[in-house]
Amino acid sequence: MSTSTGTVTGNYRNGTQRSSLRTQSSASTSAAQKSTVKSKSVLRKSSPASLGGGSSAASKAGGDSGVPGRVRVAVRLRPRNGEELIADADFADCVELQPEVKRLKLRKNNWDTDTFEFDEVLTEYASQKRVYEVVAKPVVEGVLDGYNGTIMAYGQTGTGKTYTLGQLGEEDVADRGIMVRAMEDILTQVSLETDSISVSYLQLYMETVQDLLDPANDNIAIVEDPKSGDVSLPGATLVEIRDQQSFLELLQLGEAHRFAANTKLNTESSRSHAILMVNVRRSLKTRDGLSSESSGNSHMSKSLKPPVVRKGKLVVVDLAGSERINKSGSEGHTLEEAKSINLSLSALGKCINALAENSSHVPFRDSKLTRLLRDSFGGTARTSLVITIGPSPRHRGETTSTIMFGQRAMKVENMVKLKEEFDYKSLSKRLEVQLDNLIEENERQQKAFVDEIERITVEAHNQISEAEKRYANALEEEKLRYQNDYMESIKKLEENWSKNQKKLAAERLALGEKNGMDITSNGNRSIAPALEEVSDLKKLLHKEAQSKMAAEEEVNRLKLQVTELMKVEAAGKSEIMRLHKMLENETQQKEKLEGEIATLHTQLLQLSVTADETRRNLEKHGSEKTSGALDSFMSQLRLPQIQDPGNAEKPPVAKLFEQVGLQKILSLLEADDADVRIHAVKVVANLAAEEANQQQIVEAGGLTSLLMLLRSTEDETIHRVAAGAIANLAMNETNQELIMDQGGIGLLSSTAANAHDPQTLRMVAGAIANLCGNDKLQTKLRSEGGIAALLGMVRCGHPDVLAQVARGIANFAKCESRASTQGTKRGKSLLIEDGALSWIVQNAKTETTAIRRHIELALCHLAQHEGNAKEMVKEGAIWELVRISRECSREDIRSLAHRTLTASPTFLTELRRLRVDIR
Ligand code: ADP
Ligand code: MG
Repeated sequence: MSTSTGTVTGNYRNGTQRSSLRTQSSASTSAAQKSTVKSKSVLRKSSPASLGGGSSAASKAGGDSGVPGRVRVAVRLRPRNGEELIADADFADCVELQPEVKRLKLRKNNWDTDTFEFDEVLTEYASQKRVYEVVAKPVVEGVLDGYNGTIMAYGQTGTGKTYTLGQLGEEDVADRGIMVRAMEDILTQVSLETDSISVSYLQLYMETVQDLLDPANDNIAIVEDPKSGDVSLPGATLVEIRDQQSFLELLQLGEAHRFAANTKLNTESSRSHAILMVNVRRSLKTRDGLSSESSGNSHMSKSLKPPVVRKGKLVVVDLAGSERINKSGSEGHTLEEAKSINLSLSALGKCINALAENSSHVPFRDSKLTRLLRDSFGGTARTSLVITIGPSPRHRGETTSTIMFGQRAMKVENMVKLKEEFDYKSLSKRLEVQLDNLIEENERQQKAFVDEIERITVEAHNQISEAEKRYANALEEEKLRYQNDYMESIKKLEENWSKNQKKLAAERLALGEKNGMDITSNGNRSIAPALEEVSDLKKLLHKEAQSKMAAEEEVNRLKLQVTELMKVEAAGKSEIMRLHKMLENETQQKEKLEGEIATLHTQLLQLSVTADETRRNLEKHGSEKTSGALDSFMSQLRLPQIQDPGNAEKPPVAKLFEQVGLQKILSLLEADDADVRIHAVKVVANLAAEEANQQQIVEAGGLTSLLMLLRSTEDETIHRVAAGAIANLAMNETNQELIMDQGGIGLLSSTAANAHDPQTLRMVAGAIANLCGNDKLQTKLRSEGGIAALLGMVRCGHPDVLAQVARGIANFAKCESRASTQGTKRGKSLLIEDGALSWIVQNAKTETTAIRRHIELALCHLAQHEGNAKEMVKEGAIWELVRISRECSREDIRSLAHRTLTASPTFLTELRRLRVDIR
């Protein structure tokens, strides 16, 4: 049930509705206002007070009584049918139509006519289309705009009511009646996405409402809404219409059911009323300028404006024949039946009379038809009535009564009212959806917000800790730098101080010598010489300034020269690069040649061995055959390049060792030929490089032979190779003792003293360094001049040599520190006694890592022995230890330095004195 809240009233005047939305005006003219020219009909003016229940209920509900709209009436004359053409051939029609002035003349007799004015006068020639446009179209348009509408046909059976309303026009489209055309119009105007059309089709017969769409539904109740006065048939089948075809099928179905029902009741359709109800529900999109635009509502937000729906109901009524029942008694009904049959129709007549006469009582409740049509007559609907008449004078009486019915109906005034309401339901649904969307969106945004906050927090934390870390590092670095600077300056001050002390002492001594013991009494005599001295100094200063200027000039000149030279140097550099390349090529060439020479040497070695062998064999056995093994070895050596690589797992030297025999090779160390000796010593050195061979070599007297070579020959190559071999052998503790026993230190020392090639020195230093690592040999090594020899070798300055020297010192210091912890060593280190410390301190900061590491270790070892501490402080080694404890890249050395510094009372006292923090 719809309540018409928010109703908006349209404009409906003189049967022509002009909605504020529609600009086209209806084809109909306001004939009614010109009516009652000569006729008896008097148009009732608007009289809302007497409009009956429907309208008053509506006005109560809506608070708006609508706009006056009179029932419009058209008269339609059916053409003569076949029968009439013959039977009435000689008679004139009982009516004469004047459509141009919308008048109908009814012949009373040959000399008298009555003239009636109607809203439309439709002749027998009027097409169905014109009838539709004139009678029905304005009503249908009203329905589409949200007004109720009624189209009704009234007239004697056979005059064309059904033809006018219900013709399907299946054979000829021009025949289509009002129902079909109305639906066509409705379907073209509505949008099926937002609007809906539903249809009920009913028959009213002997005061029962039957459902023509469902014959089983044969007694449908009529329900009135006491509030709004709206009438409905909730029991009736309601079919949704989406296209014309389904509507036509529905009409056909209704017709078939009507036929079946009438057969069953032994009646005919002319005795029953057919009622088609079309409900059109249209949603109005928010259109500007439409409805509710009162200033009070303008603040309403668009989304909160409820959608407007318009519900128009079209009722098409094909009434039963209006002929008087007593006249058609031939149909076999009793009078009572006949009365019942026509009850509704006569009740309609009475209601219309009452309405036309403005009677205070309209007996709507007398019949079902009048109850159903309550809104159509005297209600809110726009109503169009077509009265159908036949031309035959035989039915003049019926025709007259029909015309009179029409005339009375023209006096009925309705209060046309727009059936528009706000669709709060769909608004609430829409708002609910919107709300849910907003809730979801809000949740998503909240989550995103929380995530963002979290991300920012984490980022901020990271940045803070990063900044803190950076700050701490910078602080630490700064602190370290300041401490180092402080340390350096203290160190310098100390040095300056001791220098000054020494100078002062020397001066005092000199002065003492010159002036005897009377130094103190010279004060008075010293003024004049002092003045002299000042002027001397001034002169000197002047001279210095001049020479400084000259020097500056010289510097500028030199600078210019330097730029010149730089240019030259760039050119030179590219030349050097080129030469380097050439040199590299040459070196490669040389290496290749050396390889070849080595091969040749080997061959020579073989030959001498062979010769030796042959000679001995000849001596012993005449010219017997020589050793097989040697033979094969030689052949291998001869052709080293074509050896099968598969058999060459062992290097040629090792093979030589196996096949020729160590003894033979060693014997060649004493060969007369220098080349043979060199080659042999190289072979032995190679063999000695392999730990596995070392014992054998020593046992075979190789070590002795090598030491012999150092003594017996002047050749530096031999010295170098032999020293290398000795160094290799000196890795073993037993061999170390052997070397020492055979005067190795002395031999190595003298070799070092005579050497020119840094590589020779490197070998000798390496050998001594190895010996330095032996705990048992410490004293002997030192007393035979080993340390002195080591320190002597630093003169060459080659980093390889220096590294070996440093290694030897570190080894020696390590043994000493071991001995001191075991209590077997007392007093100062032998290294310090031999003056190694100053070299150590000087080289502690060297760039060469290999040297620095050994030195650092040596310092740490020396510092372990408290006996060395004083000397180390004096020589400045303590500074190096502090530095090592802070900066050494090796963690173990760093902590060793730190431990030794903190373990020594002497160091601690000194550090405290200098306020150096070593935490
Ligand atoms: P009613 O429904 O009033 O009893 P019908 O519509 O059944 O009358 O019409 C009776 C006959 O007259 C039908 O055969 C119909 O086709 C024909 N008829 C009615 N009006 C016209 C008309 N205007 N033009 C041609 N034939 C008509
Ligand atoms: Mg009919």
